[in-house]
Amino acid sequence: MSRAIELSRRGYPAPNPHVGCVIVRDGEMVGEGWHDFAGGPHAEAMALAIAGARALGADLYCTLEPCNHEGRTGPCTHAIIQAGVARVFVAVRDPNTKASGGIEALVKAGIACDVGILEEEARVANEVYLTAIERERPYVVVKSATTSDGFIARTDGTSKWITGEEARAVGHRLRADMGCVLVGRVTVERDDPQLTARVPGIVNQPLRAVLDPRAVLPSTHRVFSDGGPTVRFVKKGLTQEEYDVEVETGPEGFVLKQVLGALFERGMIGVLVEGGGETAAAFLRKGLVDRIERFTSPHSFGTGHPWLGSSAPELKLKKVAEERLGEDLHETFLVLGGTNRP
Ligand SMILES: [Zn+2]
Repeated sequence: MSRAIELSRRGYPAPNPHVGCVIVRDGEMVGEGWHDFAGGPHAEAMALAIAGARALGADLYCTLEPCNHEGRTGPCTHAIIQAGVARVFVAVRDPNTKASGGIEALVKAGIACDVGILEEEARVANEVYLTAIERERPYVVVKSATTSDGFIARTDGTSKWITGEEARAVGHRLRADMGCVLVGRVTVERDDPQLTARVPGIVNQPLRAVLDPRAVLPSTHRVFSDGGPTVRFVKKGLTQEEYDVEVETGPEGFVLKQVLGALFERGMIGVLVEGGGETAAAFLRKGLVDRIERFTSPHSFGTGHPWLGSSAPELKLKKVAEERLGEDLHETFLVLGGTNRP
């Protein structure tokens, strides 16, 4: 199961779950697989294809309950039953009612099932998917890239290349992993970003979500004109373009819960909030953030635009990871309290 969890971390399956699978017969590993991208083969199917006839009488380990529904690929339960697998070990039950029922189907077919193997570890590897399905809203990650003195842009608004190449590559993988990137109007106006995931071998580009309450951004910006998937959130009653989604506004701007709800309805399980500071601060103030990915460069601007501006909310954070990326520092924090996390 440890190996299956390791495999599950490969690929960018958003908005599907991360799943890894290992097939063992007579103490020998005869097949392994993972869900690499949405629309591609499931982990179990990949592992069964490698195992071939050796799956007969074998043990199958998978990190998430095998699916039992006809999606873009056939149900994995059928493939497991047909291959003659003897026993199935599952780490985590699938909370998604559309896909669950796999264990029952396997048991009904006479296959012994063991559930809960290395469950905690497997849950961590699939935290985005499990949180989204259980809470019916996407898992929210806020990314910040600042100088050592806490600025996200110079006074003139320019912000290019605060962090180095390695940190930017990790940023692109975060976009791919979450499957959706969200920014506010100012970021599009100032940087005209593409917000694509420049990751080798990526199949599905993330959905771009732009908060533009008054619908003032021209469609010539790259997020609207480059042919990739984009939705723009505008105030109710301002329908203009086919990519517009209407959301109610309150005294503080958008009702962000509705924004997340609309993204979840579109199948999104994760959202990477990339900016700017006001947008990130709004999500943090509402207690709608699960995780912060902070990138800090050793350089300083001395003066400029601070990350969360003057409206920085008080946060209870728990650092769970730290790494050096070239000369930059990358830290991961879980946001404690709020409405999202006990
Ligand atoms: Zn499946």
